[in-house]
Amino acid sequence: MVLPNNEHGCRPMRVLNLAGFLARSEVNGPGTRTVVWVQGCPHRCEGCFNKPFQPFSPATLIPVDTLAGTILSLGGIDGVTFSGGEPFAQAGPLAALGERLRAAGLSVVTYTGYTAEQLAEGHDPAWPALLAVTDLLIAGPYIAGLAKPDPLKGSSNQQAITLGMRIAIPHRATRARTARCRTEFTIAPDGTITATGFPAPALIAQLALRCRGA
Ligand code: SF4
Repeated sequence: MVLPNNEHGCRPMRVLNLAGFLARSEVNGPGTRTVVWVQGCPHRCEGCFNKPFQPFSPATLIPVDTLAGTILSLGGIDGVTFSGGEPFAQAGPLAALGERLRAAGLSVVTYTGYTAEQLAEGHDPAWPALLAVTDLLIAGPYIAGLAKPDPLKGSSNQQAITLGMRIAIPHRATRARTARCRTEFTIAPDGTITATGFPAPALIAQLALRCRGA
């Protein structure tokens, strides 16, 4: 479902600008999780894997209640992961979505390019609401020079912070053992291929060559 912006170019607080959606993933946080990618990110990290999600332009505008209903009808998931794009750029709608999902017993993982210190300064009044529904926060920009195998983080500067009781961060040794299985490919009925997780730079380069037909 796609809804237009209102006459001021603004979206209602309970409408999300969605960049992507994956019903089930095992490489976007602990367990089996639905992934919600939001459109728009101010950080512009060099080496960003989701560059098409950076522009603050309308993608799929969807009411929070509709998306919540879709996720709650899936079954067999441990929770949802908010990624992007920058989830804290849409903190209000995501907080409302997270509240609905947590009430149904699901957990919430939120990725952000902001550091924990920046979030604590709270420039946006909706940020505390999104933090309040987040069980596990992965905070900090992606720094390509610090990329390292870790099933939770893209680069070693990022912090994994437990905020709720529903997710325990896997021990570092366990994460190191599973670090090689970090990329997941999903083929949709229409043939769209989604690659997610933390692919190695060499794999990304190979994929780019294949997509260009080289
Ligand atoms: S925060 Fe994430 S989506 Fe935004 S530029 Fe950095 S890597 Fe890309």
